[in-house]
Amino acid sequence: RRPAGGAAQRGAQRVRARLAGLDLHQVADFAEAEPGEAAVSQRGECHPGRHFMVERIYRRLSSSSNISVPPNAGLDDWCFDIFELNEASDNHAMKFVGYELLHKYDLINKFKINTNVLENFLYKLEEGYSKWANPYHNLVHGADVAQTCHFIMSSSKLVNWLTDLEIFATIVAALVHDYEHTGTTNSFHVNTGSDLALLYNDKGVLENYHVSAVFRLLREEDYNILTGLSREEYKEFRALVIDMVPQYGHEPLTFSQQIKNMKQLLSMPEK
Ligand SMILES: [Zn+2]
Repeated sequence: RRPAGGAAQRGAQRVRARLAGLDLHQVADFAEAEPGEAAVSQRGECHPGRHFMVERIYRRLSSSSNISVPPNAGLDDWCFDIFELNEASDNHAMKFVGYELLHKYDLINKFKINTNVLENFLYKLEEGYSKWANPYHNLVHGADVAQTCHFIMSSSKLVNWLTDLEIFATIVAALVHDYEHTGTTNSFHVNTGSDLALLYNDKGVLENYHVSAVFRLLREEDYNILTGLSREEYKEFRALVIDMVPQYGHEPLTFSQQIKNMKQLLSMPEK
């Protein structure tokens, strides 16, 4: 898929329009169920010192990368404008969305993620998304999908049914799901017999590549945000990301896909 200029904006609008048209009753089933723990928005309020901490970290990020975005970036809103954030952050939307989401769910703390390493990792993701000057599958798209994913998880309260590790994997999978996208389709790779098509035997070429490239990156000390995970947690995290990335793949994120995915994840029977 390689639409012409302005396509990124149209693409995002299409995702939103599509999501808006989907059956929200499915979500209500989850929303009405007994929650396992407090909703996301309430979690934040439990920690009075957090706001200060966020500001401090933002300041640190700002000083190291010239980013100046207010701590309240509006990520919980349906109308969140990823293009505005990208402009305000001087083309670092992914860094901010990634950081903010992991922080919002308290995952940086829970999985003992070194913030310098996290910043390196997010920076590297941005670099990867920018590698092929891709007009649609760029860092704005990756950040947008992660924010949409967060919106669905939190507004539907699906999040209450997920473990911290599952939330962590879901956010990371969304962020990385088009990492180093070549701007060409799987069919193009297969039909031209590209190196990637040969490497992955024509099967889920790009999806395999995105995941593989990210786990290679995570193997490097400077970018490994998973050092706080136990061996078992790492195995589960990896399996989840491998499972989820193709779900976000070439078709823009669809809601029913997500619900199906989550249900599978929770081993809940379909109604
Ligand atoms: Zn995508």
